[in-house]
Amino acid sequence: MTPFAGAIACLILVTLCYSAVCAVSPFTACRKCAGFGATQPGRFRRHPQPCRRCYGSGRRLRLGRRLHNHSLRAAEGARRLRDDARH
Ligand SMILES: [Zn+2]
Repeated sequence: MTPFAGAIACLILVTLCYSAVCAVSPFTACRKCAGFGATQPGRFRRHPQPCRRCYGSGRRLRLGRRLHNHSLRAAEGARRLRDDARH
């Protein structure tokens, strides 16, 4: 196996593993609040505020899952356009 084929096989394996992770567990901890759902009190802010990025849920969709959902919506829109054009 040439190094190039090995690199391609490794990339495909990593992609398949990431797809499996996105299918099994689509959400992960929010990067801004580390999954707490609220900002930590700091020097000027005494009380924790709900996280603005995850709206207090502490979770975010993984990038792969977001891409999957986007492609599903795009395919649904294209199907709807095609079906509307027939009638
Ligand atoms: Zn957050």
